[in-house]
Amino acid sequence: MSDYDRDNIFAKILRGEMPCVKIFEDNDTLAFMDIMPQAEGHVLVIPKAEACDMMDLDDAMAQKLIVNVQRIARAVKSAIGCPGVMLAQLNGSAAGQTVFHTHFHIIPRHNGVELGFHAKNMADPGELEKIAEKIRPLIS
Ligand code: AMP
Repeated sequence: MSDYDRDNIFAKILRGEMPCVKIFEDNDTLAFMDIMPQAEGHVLVIPKAEACDMMDLDDAMAQKLIVNVQRIARAVKSAIGCPGVMLAQLNGSAAGQTVFHTHFHIIPRHNGVELGFHAKNMADPGELEKIAEKIRPLIS
């Protein structure tokens, strides 16, 4: 992809140049805790392909990504015990995208609880690790 920035933060995470609280990895995808969660258990799932947004993914990668989003969303729902799960996927700054490596947000939702602010409040990595420990064993 011509306008893909290889120095975006998720590219650095994929290369191991930036830390993340990893949830899941296979040959094509990586999932990790969002560092500024909008709810407890907020996870991001990204493809390993260089793609700014969903429109840049080929069919095979798009399929692999959504299958893993579904698998991980199931695990997040069980681990957090939330009645709802929001999947969010933003394409382009006009849509609110802030990191230009395509990704899905998996965000637990509870009745009557407002969604937290987007990319605003930094979480403690130790707390994220405790949540990750609950999610990882439930990914099947
Ligand atoms: P978007 O605005 O849809 O592009 O979402 C980007 C998401 O990445 C936001 O929810 C941020 O909180 C999250 N984020 C940014 N930097 C990091 C990081 N280093 N590790 C984990 N999540 C991050």
